[in-house]
Amino acid sequence: MEKKDLRRLTLPELRDLITDRGLPEYRYRQIARWLYDKGVESLARMTDLSLSLREELGSEFEIRGLTIEEERISRIDGTRKFLFRLSDGEAVESVLMPAERRMTLCLSTQVGCTLDCIFCQTGRMGFRRNLEPHEIVGQILPLWTRIRDLRLRTNLVFMGMGEPLHNLPALVTACRTMMDPLALNLSGNRITVSTAGVLSGIRRLADTGLGVRLALSLNATTEEVRARLMPKAARTPLRELLAAARGYAERYGSRVTIEYVLLRRINDTEEDARRLGRMLRGGPFKINIIPYNPGAGTGLDAPDRERVDTFARRVWPQAPVVTVRWSMGPDISAACGQLHTTRATG
Ligand code: SF4
Repeated sequence: MEKKDLRRLTLPELRDLITDRGLPEYRYRQIARWLYDKGVESLARMTDLSLSLREELGSEFEIRGLTIEEERISRIDGTRKFLFRLSDGEAVESVLMPAERRMTLCLSTQVGCTLDCIFCQTGRMGFRRNLEPHEIVGQILPLWTRIRDLRLRTNLVFMGMGEPLHNLPALVTACRTMMDPLALNLSGNRITVSTAGVLSGIRRLADTGLGVRLALSLNATTEEVRARLMPKAARTPLRELLAAARGYAERYGSRVTIEYVLLRRINDTEEDARRLGRMLRGGPFKINIIPYNPGAGTGLDAPDRERVDTFARRVWPQAPVVTVRWSMGPDISAACGQLHTTRATG
């Protein structure tokens, strides 16, 4: 009989497994800590469980982690990109970005993406499949003890491969695990979900009560330009998207980040800057301008630094918080919009 993967169980399912066997609940807490906080890959390493319990569980379960097939380190800024091979041969990438006092881990939720934004290499892969909750959490676990021991503030951002709100049930289950005090004990304000604009998903995410932060990838100030850049996501009008983002911010009392990938001669004019400022004026937003990272075959150009600064200065008087985020790891294709994988053959 093939053994089941213990990490495929949600934490409530794990608790039921233990208590249904008549075992005390503290056994559940011990196992959850070994699985997530300590990230062990074998029942044998759960040394505070009795040998008989380890053998009993081991006859039915094993622990399978994701395999890091490749780790690349940027010479420019120390960003690390990880390629995780999944059990069916598919693969996803995650990116760990160091800063002076914090670590940011950018996670994937899908293999590929249905949305096909023209500036994004993941979109060009097409959609392969959704990740399961254990595959989302599994991108953190091999790195978790390294990160935790640095004692830096750790932020998780769902800005990797895929549209997180198209895989909402798995995303929510994964977030609940990450936020559980027995697992990674992360608070909602350290997790950001970035969407290209899935209206129903924004509302459903709000209704989960998770309280994670929201980022909306807007990238345009007119319907025409948004339709050109994000043809599928642009089916929802800008006005409705911003209303949903405002509703989310009001519900959780935190600003929604508006992301704006700046592309030369497409959305970087003086009029764009003023329109963007007007659209967001007085709202519960902060604006993150992301200079485009060139990707193979897109035919799109990056703006130069002066153009970026000018654009930000034009937006700023009307919006309370405007930042420019120069993407990290461009030399290892780890920057925004550059993630891309292929399936293993054979
Ligand atoms: S930018 Fe995000 S939503 Fe758009 S294609 Fe890429 S991964 Fe999908």
